[in-house]
Amino acid sequence: MKKVWKILGIICFLLIVIFLFSGRGKTLPKEKEEPIIKNESWTLTQFGSNEGSQMMCFTIEGNEKGLVIIDGGYRDVEEQHQFLIDKIAEHNNVVDAWIITHFDADHGGEFVRIANEENDVQIKKVYVADTPTDMELLKKNAPYEDDWSVYEDYLAMDLPQKVKVHPGNQYQLIDLKMKVLCSYEDWIDEKTDNLLNNGAIVFKLYGNEESLLFCGDVQSEVIGEYLMENCKNDLKSDYLQVGHHGNNNLGDEFYREVSPKIAFFAAPDWLMENVARVPWYTVEENRAVLEETGAEILWHNTSPNQIVFQ
Ligand SMILES: [Zn+2]
Repeated sequence: MKKVWKILGIICFLLIVIFLFSGRGKTLPKEKEEPIIKNESWTLTQFGSNEGSQMMCFTIEGNEKGLVIIDGGYRDVEEQHQFLIDKIAEHNNVVDAWIITHFDADHGGEFVRIANEENDVQIKKVYVADTPTDMELLKKNAPYEDDWSVYEDYLAMDLPQKVKVHPGNQYQLIDLKMKVLCSYEDWIDEKTDNLLNNGAIVFKLYGNEESLLFCGDVQSEVIGEYLMENCKNDLKSDYLQVGHHGNNNLGDEFYREVSPKIAFFAAPDWLMENVARVPWYTVEENRAVLEETGAEILWHNTSPNQIVFQ
């Protein structure tokens, strides 16, 4: 009987050895994971008509994947609408992130139009400033503004993907780091007027080697002082979008600190050259300071303006 158990034992042992060596005992390979494709460079495009009103529209595309839109411009300018629709179509109708610095008609109009009308377009994330919703307060602070319709339409929208940003917040978008330097807080109401403009998102985008600073429509010297005091280490940038289409009082020191290679003015010729000689326009002054620092100046006369950054 003992012999039988011994033989059975040997057979079991041999079976285990055969099983192990045949490879069947090995861990099964996991299901193939999506390869991680990372962007290593990005293309920034500034779009704007050289006729008509000032407006702001930028797109950023990763060399491997992804689309970010910054503002977008008016909702009733067909050429501009078509530019965005074509760009979005190139990315299979997916916008990874849409940053709207503020909801004046010349910035937020296209977002409201596309998000409301283009059902095929998927907008994954929407970054906005946390500006007041009290229309009386806003109108009292900027009585000269005549078109609030884009902001009102935006407030009526249901946007579960919306992110309200605050100074210091950081996000990852198509492998770029976004850092918010300034955005609406209560002190902006206490110290400035035009709360949509001065409460606009001021933010940095960091690639691997280069960085971009966007200033939306901030225009008050108070915002310039805030940025110099609180964000000095983040100001130096390779590329700059000049606040409020070039008309702002952020200060010469602010521009010397940023000292960009290229400064983008979201403006047509009539504004860049102050054709009407409007006394309070500061475009020429700001442009001169930037040129002194060695910056190349780009605006809508050569639109679309395109650069690749690392
Ligand atoms: Zn504007």
